[in-house]
Amino acid sequence: MDPHVFQLVGGNAALDFVNTIHDWTAAEPRDYLPTFAEAARFAEAAGLVTRAEARALAGLPGSAELRRLRELRVRLERIFRAVRSERSPAPEDLDALARDAAEAGRAARLQFDRGQLTRVIDLETAGAATLRLRLVERAIALLTADHLERLSACPSCGWYFLDTTKNRSRRWCSMDMCGSAVKARRYYWRTKGRGRRRRQGGGRAAPK
Ligand SMILES: [Zn+2]
Repeated sequence: MDPHVFQLVGGNAALDFVNTIHDWTAAEPRDYLPTFAEAARFAEAAGLVTRAEARALAGLPGSAELRRLRELRVRLERIFRAVRSERSPAPEDLDALARDAAEAGRAARLQFDRGQLTRVIDLETAGAATLRLRLVERAIALLTADHLERLSACPSCGWYFLDTTKNRSRRWCSMDMCGSAVKARRYYWRTKGRGRRRRQGGGRAAPK
């Protein structure tokens, strides 16, 4: 089987991470991160780790980290969902994220690179947790950013994305995946409805 091609439609790695469940509205959704090695492959695709780091991560024992990644994913989804509907996220979710952030803070060091200071979480220090801790940093940066009002979700599959269109008119995660499918469904019902009306109309017009 060909490896899954990760659909990076979120415009942010933390959103793309939450979107590794397809879809959030389904009772038993498909999980695109079935193994830690797949999580490492996602991390490379999403630009969270380099190819060399992804290879090193995939070789580490990661079952405990995979469980923690999945917990983080569910928690982030709840937080993004709450923020999107302008509700306060659950305090226990925020506390858990703050604990993760503290862990990321302990693992991070400051590095002077190309004229500026950056926070770095490297593989030697953080090991298998590198991916999760980098995700936590991205998520917090996003959740505390001004452009969070651009956070949107696909009405069909529940995937999250930043709507960067000028008039905030983006509706779907992607036209290919949901937009065209929903449009096709609508067309089906529209034409089906038209057929039924025509038949009913014919019935009324029939001579008694
Ligand atoms: Zn969608």
